[in-house]
Amino acid sequence: MSDELNPFAIAQAQLAQAAEILELEPAVHEMLRWPLRELHVTLPVRMDDGTVKVFHGYRVQYNDSRGPTKGGIRFHPDETIDTVRALAAWMTWKTAVVDIPLGGAKGGIICNPKEMSAGELERLSRAYIRQVGRILGLEKDVPAPDVYTTPQIMAWMADEYAVIKGHNEFGVITGKPLELGGSQGRGDATARGGLYTVREAAKALGIELKGATAAVQGYGNAGSFAHILGQEILGLKFVAVSDSRGGICNWDGLDPEKVLAHKRETGSVINFPGAENITNEELLELEVTVLFPSALENVLTNQNAGRIKAKISAELANGPTTPEADRILYDNGVYVIPDFLCNAGGVTVSYFEMCQNAYNYYWDLDTVHERLDIKMTAAFHAVHEMAQEYKVNNRVAAYLVSVVRVAKAMKLRGWV
Ligand code: GLU
Repeated sequence: MSDELNPFAIAQAQLAQAAEILELEPAVHEMLRWPLRELHVTLPVRMDDGTVKVFHGYRVQYNDSRGPTKGGIRFHPDETIDTVRALAAWMTWKTAVVDIPLGGAKGGIICNPKEMSAGELERLSRAYIRQVGRILGLEKDVPAPDVYTTPQIMAWMADEYAVIKGHNEFGVITGKPLELGGSQGRGDATARGGLYTVREAAKALGIELKGATAAVQGYGNAGSFAHILGQEILGLKFVAVSDSRGGICNWDGLDPEKVLAHKRETGSVINFPGAENITNEELLELEVTVLFPSALENVLTNQNAGRIKAKISAELANGPTTPEADRILYDNGVYVIPDFLCNAGGVTVSYFEMCQNAYNYYWDLDTVHERLDIKMTAAFHAVHEMAQEYKVNNRVAAYLVSVVRVAKAMKLRGWV
């Protein structure tokens, strides 16, 4: 992979910009450029046909100066150690920007869950915990769902961890089903948190969102809930959505319930009755008010950034925009709400889930929404103000906010 598109090289380059502005001491910068620890695991799994398939996985604990490391586990055929490192770094900045007492981590397994049975996925999930469980713990490292991992997978993992320990430790994994110590509101938290930041951005920019157009690239957990809740909470009109097979567009608006039902039935949003099929590339370039990149890394690059016409790009995905694209979008006046700010709602409600597990006392949905809103709104304004003060784009501003917080924790501990 070229450095230009290697997510970890990108994460390090983003940090370097902040380090320069903050005139970070070399040791502080060097500590923040690398993960503290990483574990590579090899996982034999009995497949349904009786053969054994060997999978490879990772867990990267990036920085725990502000608290136990936190971050999801991805199941993806294109997973690499460098994507996991980048995602672990971004988790460190994410927990810092919303100011929750956690560090950053990420896990991944190279696999294609779309081609695996439920039994195979369960055995793979348990095998991962048998290896990685030794470095997890309430006070050490707490995983959660990410791309292609679900509450059911978290349940199997929590159960395997309980088997190893000999007792339940619900708080060691978040994003669990409600019946197993999950939190109200965790399912749609990433999208909901992102929408709170869009609401604040629109206020700051003087944009009316009611009836304004929106497009969603990626229709997984974050993207599909952005469609449902963006219409419900902000009154946005979604004119285009897409998934890995392609997109659909209708300028009169797309009904989220109907699109979801169609995807459940056919496996994709494409060929939705009454809408025109478009490509993912075309979707990104539509003239809409809000664009939600909600899938994977590197979709906005120097190749297409100049053609992006959205007023706001709300990054529900991790790492969708390359540094060159960032510069182009900034010059063209596209207001980017950067990933680790925009999608921090997921980990924020994960943190609420950990708190509830520790108390063994559970909050109602309104309490979760209210507290999530407070966290996201405060984080948005911290970044927005930093961007004005230093005259930098929002991503650099978000780094400035987070890096200062993590560097302070490392200093107080006497590491640097
Ligand atoms: N995987 C989500 C993220 O990238 C959530 C992480 C968590 O809840 O720990 O933010």
